[in-house]
Amino acid sequence: MLDQITIQEFSQTLSQPLIMPFDAGYDEGRSVWNGMVDKRPAMISNCKNADDIKKCLNFAQHHDLLVSIKGGGHNVAGKAVCDGGLMINLSQMNTVIVDPVKRTVRVESGATIGELDRETQKFGLATPVGIVSKTGIAGLTLGGGLGYLGRKHGLTIDNLISVELVTAKGDLISANETENPDLFWALRGGGGNFGVVTSFEFKLHELGPEIMAAQVFYPIEDAKQVLKFYREFTSNAADELVGNAYVLRVPPADPFPEALQGKIAIALVVCYAGSLDDGKTALEPLENFGNPILRVIMPMSFLALQTIFDQGGPKGVRSYWKTHYIDHVSDEAIDVFVNHTTHIPGPLSVVGFESFGGAINRVEENATAFPHRSASYVFGIYSGWTKAENDEKIISWTRELYDKMTAFASGGEYSNYLDHDDSDKIRASFGSNYSRLQHVKYKYDPNNFFKINQNIIPNPDL
Ligand SMILES: Cc1cc2nc3c(=O)[nH]c(=O)nc-3n(C[C@H](O)[C@H](O)[C@H](O)COP(=O)(O)OP(=O)(O)OC[C@H]3O[C@@H](n4cnc5c(N)ncnc54)[C@H](O)[C@@H]3O)c2cc1C
Repeated sequence: MLDQITIQEFSQTLSQPLIMPFDAGYDEGRSVWNGMVDKRPAMISNCKNADDIKKCLNFAQHHDLLVSIKGGGHNVAGKAVCDGGLMINLSQMNTVIVDPVKRTVRVESGATIGELDRETQKFGLATPVGIVSKTGIAGLTLGGGLGYLGRKHGLTIDNLISVELVTAKGDLISANETENPDLFWALRGGGGNFGVVTSFEFKLHELGPEIMAAQVFYPIEDAKQVLKFYREFTSNAADELVGNAYVLRVPPADPFPEALQGKIAIALVVCYAGSLDDGKTALEPLENFGNPILRVIMPMSFLALQTIFDQGGPKGVRSYWKTHYIDHVSDEAIDVFVNHTTHIPGPLSVVGFESFGGAINRVEENATAFPHRSASYVFGIYSGWTKAENDEKIISWTRELYDKMTAFASGGEYSNYLDHDDSDKIRASFGSNYSRLQHVKYKYDPNNFFKINQNIIPNPDL
């Protein structure tokens, strides 16, 4: 048990005092996106720089404390926070510096993807990230990073140039293709297993600032036809086009007709990451299909598109996720899916198919630590609700659908979508790269000091 004087002396060495359980700011600091997670660290350090991080790691090693790392706090399994340990909160390390000439961006690891997009879009540039702006760039990147630009430019990690991180030993090092290349390989998909990242450098691509986008909502009764259309529309699509099909509740806001707000519907959400003219042509099939409740197909700022789901998944919502990779959306898969989702529980649940493929598929399985590159879709059950009394009902509904959809899955899991009860799936999430990851883990963190993550067990053997 640590005494108060030791803690206080350590606290005084940091840029900002530690936040203790009796301090204002403790509950905000320990809170994460998933409202089901309620963990109480012994102390929280709001780190401002690599030196603070080093001191935290040294202190934790010396006193045998667990360490958790909070980037954006969005990990559904709540891995940013731990009971009784030291939580490293990076949210104040959020500087983003764009080099518009070299078309690169250096971003500190506490930034959200919204903060990154805002800076890069000032120059009409972007790097592929996720589709909810409050998500942390750190956790997203280290696990892979899938979003609207994925088919055109790959996963977030496919655009990573270099990483700076503090290792378990307390050394600040760089990893890129030439410096510590084994570590650079592992950081592209291997999660928060190897150190505390202080910053990332990414390639940028021209984008927007306006792109063609569509949000088309159909009555749930049309779900089977909509999904068959979606399958055709996405399977022959250009790399610029990413289309997601979700069963969800109609948002309680304009421009949705009041009578339909809160009702279950199926929505196609599409982004065309190319010229507006090409986008108009590519989205034409959507202009003509079906009898939607609402059809919005228009040029839109990429920044606006990146926030359309922010309201639907606010911080604190109780959440439980299960996902599969899928190669082909068969008629049978559509039947099973639709039969189960017409009565989707949870006011904030979103369930459906997200485009994968394109440039993501063209990277070799072992070129980065992220192995699952051959699928065409990610199938996600993102259940969201507000009342604890509904936990059991919604969790078992989610598991049931996940089990039923297993018959259509292509195998493996996306580590960034694993929930708290998925530790048996961690190995599968790293697929054929697992033993190489264990080897790199052994080199950089032989004692498994960083274990509050999708944990890779260190092993010197290859
Ligand atoms: C609403 C929502 C939308 C999402 N949308 C997408 C999406 O579109 N595409 C997609 O690919 N994923 C998406 N995700 C999943 C997301 O990628 C993961 O939840 C990811 O872990 C979030 O990163 P974070 O920094 O916010 O997480 P945190 O919870 O802060 O951290 C998660 C883990 O990442 C590691 N980590 C974080 N920071 C560091 C660091 N600086 N150094 C070392 N390790 C670190 C740690 O192991 C930590 O436990 C979404 C999640 C949510 C909740």
